Amino acid sequence: MQTVLGVIIESHKFRNRDIIGGDAALDFVNTVTGRDQSPRDWLDSYPRLLEWAAFVHLLPKRVLRTLAKKAHKEPAAAAIALARAKVLREALFELVTRIISRRAPTKTTLALLRQHWIAGINAHELRFEHGHVVAELRSDATDFDLIAAMIAYRMVEHVLPLPIDRLRICQGPNCSWLFIDRSKGGRRRWCDMAVCGNAAKSRRFYARLRGLTQVSDSTGRSAYHPRDQVTAE
Ligand SMILES: [Zn+2]
Repeated sequence: MQTVLGVIIESHKFRNRDIIGGDAALDFVNTVTGRDQSPRDWLDSYPRLLEWAAFVHLLPKRVLRTLAKKAHKEPAAAAIALARAKVLREALFELVTRIISRRAPTKTTLALLRQHWIAGINAHELRFEHGHVVAELRSDATDFDLIAAMIAYRMVEHVLPLPIDRLRICQGPNCSWLFIDRSKGGRRRWCDMAVCGNAAKSRRFYARLRGLTQVSDSTGRSAYHPRDQVTAE
């Protein structure tokens, strides 16, 4: 376990409950959990990034196997690609939280997203199949940065066109996961009701008992003081 700028980097075995974003691009941002209190980063190596990509079916198995072999031979280059992917991940968290709180994204963030998005477009080819033109991953796309490129591609093509009020940040304590609210009424507040919903409810209950006041930050998340640690595990 190591710490970088207050973020604990830990090894993590991905489970179904980690995949709640509604799109792989948001699930990638959610590989850091607890950004509001005690952030933990689950990507401790490039092979872990590949594990995550396999878990969310981001890329075909054939491509992931090629990347795994390549990472074994060139660990330094793979580590640099992981660092680049993490820079994109943090930029995307900032981008989405700004959109949620109705603030314009920075030019730097948009420029970075554009750079990876273009790499994502370049990794595709257009083919005509069964009467449709389809975008498919090129068979020779096996760059270490392909995962970041695919994340940016998905973010621009699938997530950002969604109505703003469907992009959400979990209001549970020590979570800050992003997700697409696809509920019928559009009132989903938690990544998972059983985890963050209940944690927030019990916090509200005890806060009321103690007569503490509620405060909200600019993203609309709620918190109570003092901030006792409640983990999402
Ligand atoms: Zn949550």
